[in-house]
Amino acid sequence: MAEDLVYNYYKLPSGQRSHPRYDVLTRCRLTKDEIVIGPLAQVIRYAGQPKNTSLGSLAYDFYKICLHDHAILNELALFPQLCLFPVILYLVTHELIHVVRFSKFLQNFSAATEKRLIEEKKVHETTRTILSSVNVIGLSNVLVHSEKWLNSLDSLLDGCLNE
Ligand SMILES: [Zn+2]
Repeated sequence: MAEDLVYNYYKLPSGQRSHPRYDVLTRCRLTKDEIVIGPLAQVIRYAGQPKNTSLGSLAYDFYKICLHDHAILNELALFPQLCLFPVILYLVTHELIHVVRFSKFLQNFSAATEKRLIEEKKVHETTRTILSSVNVIGLSNVLVHSEKWLNSLDSLLDGCLNE
């Protein structure tokens, strides 16, 4: 569902070959290094290589959308108005927007902190725009709650700009 929404929004042409390659993983499929404390989800970029070749020109970007179960379940326990499905829809939509923006070079994976925070805000705003017309039970509560995530970004950004 998140993929349809994001690909439609960015008008990605049909045909899988032109789409970024990604997978969505929960904690049991993450490596030790991919499990972090804090964020509910994150995206990690890897360099993929087709089997049976060492040709660098055939390398491609592969993205892992990591869902951090422990943090998500914690958020649900703290805020009983949130339900699992709409929260996961929000998170996967958000991370897929990052993936599409990386793959279209609208976002740089190694940007400095301030630029990353500005990008993060933009991605939250796009997520909210995309999901605002979607009819899923509990999603409106998540959209209201996401203002809290946006506000915490604003304070981080203020701190960054005042340094
Ligand atoms: Zn993000």
